[in-house]
Amino acid sequence: MTQEELFKTLTAHAKEYGFIFQSSEIYDGLGAVYDYGQMGVELKNNIKKYWWEAMVHLNENIVGIDSAIFMHPKVWEASGHLSAFNDPLIDNRDSKKRYRADVLIEDYMAKLEERMNKEVEKGRRRFGEAFDEEQFRTTNPNVLRNKAKWDEVNTRMVEALNSDNLAELKQIIMDCEIACPISGTRNWTDVRQFNLMFSTQLGTISEEASTIYLRPETAQGIFVNFLNVQKSARMKVPFGIAQIGKAFRNEIVARQFIFRMREFEQMEMQFFVRPGSELEWFEKWKEARLAWYKALGLGDEKYRYHDHDKLAHYANAATDIEFEFPFGFKELEGIHSRTDFDLAQHQQFSGRKMQYFDPETGESYVPYVVETSIGLDRTFLAILSAAYCEEKLENGEERVVLRIPPAIAPVKLAVLPLVRKDSLPEKAREIMNELKYDFNCQYDEKDSIGRRYRRQDAIGTPFCITIDHDTLEDNCVTIRYRDTMEQERVPIVSLRSIMEKKVSLRSLLEKL
Ligand code: ATP
Repeated sequence: MTQEELFKTLTAHAKEYGFIFQSSEIYDGLGAVYDYGQMGVELKNNIKKYWWEAMVHLNENIVGIDSAIFMHPKVWEASGHLSAFNDPLIDNRDSKKRYRADVLIEDYMAKLEERMNKEVEKGRRRFGEAFDEEQFRTTNPNVLRNKAKWDEVNTRMVEALNSDNLAELKQIIMDCEIACPISGTRNWTDVRQFNLMFSTQLGTISEEASTIYLRPETAQGIFVNFLNVQKSARMKVPFGIAQIGKAFRNEIVARQFIFRMREFEQMEMQFFVRPGSELEWFEKWKEARLAWYKALGLGDEKYRYHDHDKLAHYANAATDIEFEFPFGFKELEGIHSRTDFDLAQHQQFSGRKMQYFDPETGESYVPYVVETSIGLDRTFLAILSAAYCEEKLENGEERVVLRIPPAIAPVKLAVLPLVRKDSLPEKAREIMNELKYDFNCQYDEKDSIGRRYRRQDAIGTPFCITIDHDTLEDNCVTIRYRDTMEQERVPIVSLRSIMEKKVSLRSLLEKL
């Protein structure tokens, strides 16, 4: 299966099993807006819980908040979103499709990268064991030509973005002969800037109503509460404030399922530090955040850092953690050293002092900020795509299994009476009634046991508990493991403690 087919299959699977639905589907849907179904909401809640516990509960110097989506319009002036939260857009006149100019160029660069990788794979097959990848990459003429082109385009694009040179962005598209993926033509308009914030009116009388915005990030709710939290919780720098919540962006290039949505959820943490210590904290958070992903066990090789060439004018370091989605390595999380930009801007626009008095040194200063900003929906998609697996079994049958880490799986265990008679359902209900206080359980008595296992595999339930006739005699049940399909007989009395070890968040948190 190609990666593209895999992605299509994954999308269909997510719908069929109640993970994700297109928003307002009966009205043909709303572009780039999605709903989480009965399984999706469980998985999403579990990811949030894992993040919250790792960030807020495990760190004494981090606390959480939940700020409102609506904020005073001045916030967005101060943050720079009103004037500069723009995407460079370009339209194809034939297909009438609109694209982000930088994304078109990045897709072109990804193709160059793909060509280089193909060449390397050819070399590997040709030279076998003696193959030296580094030497090949630095000497093979095809690789070198593509690499030179990649470097040239990258440098031009970064410079154009840094200097807001829209004409140059268009020139790169023309020079690289980039065509519209739909019409196949190069009939492009000029590149224009487009603000991504959604606006609405506050107040009932239209003349008096003022324009307010749906927040495009959760971070500003943290900055404006910096003093409230610092004072009420008596926090000492360095300390952090975390929050999980919805953000809204009028994304033009809305595609790739829940990777780029117009309404999405972020999990952000702003860490306030003494000026001068920010780069040290930046490195620490870079490592800590990668460890958080790796503890999920989806495969360490699926992550990489991407350090920014294009730094925002206020940032002095920035990196993305990227994940290998079926459509390539893409950003999951941004880690940014933002200096004192945000607090200083709010100080200026609000006229309130956003300073911290350091009792040890006796100085007052505006703290510097290191931020970790993660897309909850993208993390969801990363987990789903890494977990999805089609397997051929020894008996020739096939199964689809979601290998979701047990600690965050939507349903932890399924309770299955072998047959729907002989008091087995009653016994199964009894067990379920005991376990449901600790774990999200599902009871299922319909169809053959094999089909029930498959249904649980398809939603990623890590354990199935089967109640058979012997259970009535020996008070033991069979645990069937999702990943290995092995079975183990255990006493009912020890079920809870066995499950607890396997599915508790603690099993993940202890790895951090
Ligand atoms: P991109 O370059 O992909 O548009 P960004 O750099 O603008 O992302 P940030 O502003 O750094 O993103 O936001 C932090 C995180 O929020 C991102 O790493 C991503 O996981 C998530 N995110 C941003 N925009 C979207 C979106 N439209 N849909 C889903 N998640 C998003």
